[in-house]
Amino acid sequence: MDCLFCKIIAGEIPSEKLYEDELVYVFKDINPEAPVHFLVIPKEHINSTDELDEAHKELVGHVFLVAKKVAHDEGLTNGYRIVNNCKEDGGQTVNHLHFHVLGGRSMQWPPG
Ligand code: AMP
Ligand code: ZN
Repeated sequence: MDCLFCKIIAGEIPSEKLYEDELVYVFKDINPEAPVHFLVIPKEHINSTDELDEAHKELVGHVFLVAKKVAHDEGLTNGYRIVNNCKEDGGQTVNHLHFHVLGGRSMQWPPG
């Protein structure tokens, strides 16, 4: 499959890995929007949140617990933001489900 993030998981494209287990892969965003900005992705290729179903319930819960763990490992003791951009109107540019974790500065609301 011609997917950038599947290639990163396979090691065919280099990345700055922060964590990996049997279900997820975590790496630094190449274009950080905050002092800390990493992505949590399932190893299973899923296009977006819109393709999630009941079978993915445990996986998504695991994604959030890993996001919290790595956020703490990266020193985000004062909070952080988890973002998922879904499909065109959500601003998704890579069609492999991913959750951004941003921190190290105060976030603004609402997003653009
Ligand atoms: P989204 O716009 O939500 O689809 O987010 C895609 C994210 O992937 C962006 O924040 C990009 O900076 C990031 N990205 C794209 N290519 C790479 C790469 N090779 N390594 C790490 N992050 C990447
Ligand atoms: Zn993929």
